[in-house]
Amino acid sequence: MEKKFYTRDEFREKLKLNDSDDLFNAFFNMQINEWEFARKNYETLKELKVKEFNFPDASVVVQFNPHRVSSTLALVDEKSIANRKCFLCDANLHPEQKGIELTKNYTLLVNPFPIIPVHFTAKFNKHHPQKISDNFIEILNGAEALGENYFLLYNGPEAGASVPEHRHFQGGTKKHFPLINFIGNILAGKKTEKGLPKIDEEKNIEGATLYSVRDTLRRILVIKGKDKEAIEKLFFIVFGVMTNLFPSAKETKLNLVSTMQNGEHLLFIFPRKAHRPKCFYAEGEERLLVSPATLDFGGVVVLPRKEDFEKITQSDVEQIFSDVAFSEEMFSALLSKL
Ligand SMILES: [Zn+2]
Repeated sequence: MEKKFYTRDEFREKLKLNDSDDLFNAFFNMQINEWEFARKNYETLKELKVKEFNFPDASVVVQFNPHRVSSTLALVDEKSIANRKCFLCDANLHPEQKGIELTKNYTLLVNPFPIIPVHFTAKFNKHHPQKISDNFIEILNGAEALGENYFLLYNGPEAGASVPEHRHFQGGTKKHFPLINFIGNILAGKKTEKGLPKIDEEKNIEGATLYSVRDTLRRILVIKGKDKEAIEKLFFIVFGVMTNLFPSAKETKLNLVSTMQNGEHLLFIFPRKAHRPKCFYAEGEERLLVSPATLDFGGVVVLPRKEDFEKITQSDVEQIFSDVAFSEEMFSALLSKL
């Protein structure tokens, strides 16, 4: 039987890569060449229609992506989960799908239903439910392994994850996630052309700093630093306060993005008010099928239905964010307890 999973060293050897070659890009290209189903979906992605909405200090790209309909509509109640096959477990992967070691506990796969031109899933090697407090450090380890060109994200079980039953991250190329570059550059002191979001330093411990970021659409937190343990400490301070103030059945609602910039870690925390916006549950003309996960929250909004793509307006976009993002009251309450 053909080998399905590789360590990073095995994969370098198989493709005769040099140390300076981008291992993950080579892995992606190999899968696209040998896996027709995924290749077709990545080709289709290039042709997808998009609309851009500009706000004074933020921009949002809305994408009409019919392949994402099952993720958008994913049922995440216990009964539906118990009755379906887990497509992240080894036995249920596509026959052509291969995996490469990302960290000791996570395997990187090419996501066959892409939103961005290089889109990975990093799955936990065991079938355990999505829960960040059990394995937070892994998102930092994974982002470090991927290197500065990539990011890794986390969708909480009640904040956008469509497979909350199997612990996983998603990843991709950073240049396709503009918010991360935009905020990262501001924090690095680089000038940007657009209006700026409001950024304040909230807390500083040795090795890491916590910032609050507010723009027209969202209120988010960013931790920046070299020291992973310090970042972990700051994250759990935020997580603890969120869990106290805004508890939820499985986990306080949040999305995370982890990336590296100039040798430092950047961790974005998107606190969430709701899993889905009101328009998701509306009927008739009012309905917009949108279920924001981390990428949507970061400004790449996926609409799987054509009619929704055609009718969506700037004020709909604003309303969607206002339904799922923390309000100013919630954000201030969180900041005051840090
Ligand atoms: Zn599984």
